[in-house]
Amino acid sequence: MRLYASLTPLKQWVSTLATAALDLFYPPVCAGCGVEVGTWWCAACQARVEWLCGAACCRALPLEGDGTETVAVISAARYTDPIARVIQAFKYEATPHLAVAFGAAMVTALRESSLAVATGAVLVPVPLYVQRQRVRGYNHSALLARHIGQALELPVDERTLRRVRNTEQQARIRDDATRQANVRGAFKADPRCANAAQIILVDDVFTTGATLRECALALKAAGAQAVAALTLARARD
Ligand SMILES: [Zn+2]
Repeated sequence: MRLYASLTPLKQWVSTLATAALDLFYPPVCAGCGVEVGTWWCAACQARVEWLCGAACCRALPLEGDGTETVAVISAARYTDPIARVIQAFKYEATPHLAVAFGAAMVTALRESSLAVATGAVLVPVPLYVQRQRVRGYNHSALLARHIGQALELPVDERTLRRVRNTEQQARIRDDATRQANVRGAFKADPRCANAAQIILVDDVFTTGATLRECALALKAAGAQAVAALTLARARD
């Protein structure tokens, strides 16, 4: 298992060295096909992904009730195999290095979308509950946000939004209403989020939008000026 958290530069250097040593003795295998050796995510699998572009990247997620207030959600790909399988590996099989390629794909989607990134925009990853993050060792959404932030020179704020209670994993719930109830009131935002000109939420998969909606509502309740979202994949049309 490779360790990856918010590490100091020295620890990061040691971690990189340890990963290189591990790769020498246990070469990575593509999480998509399980065949291609020497890479975590091979070119052939990437070519089979249903990448989204232009208007197809963007959906308007209604926030409450009458649906007049919406949040723009940009997604890089359809949630089908092989990327669906690889996202599962990214979340549950200690493969944080997949964030490099995934983050790059999300940057491309954002750049090609019609969403205007404001001067003073801040990236906010969807947080995990503290105990779940401890078990997993990293928050996959935060890893994505850090790579996107580096590429776009945007700050990443991993503290302004917190998950204040543990919730059942959304992927295990089939019914839309139950998914919404599962995350209702699960997030709290710090009032300093009001200082950002725009907040771009970062998450792996957009399914019903229940989690992104709750995050956006928490941010708006704390005074956020403008909220949008960027996900790696979208499960529905
Ligand atoms: Zn592959």
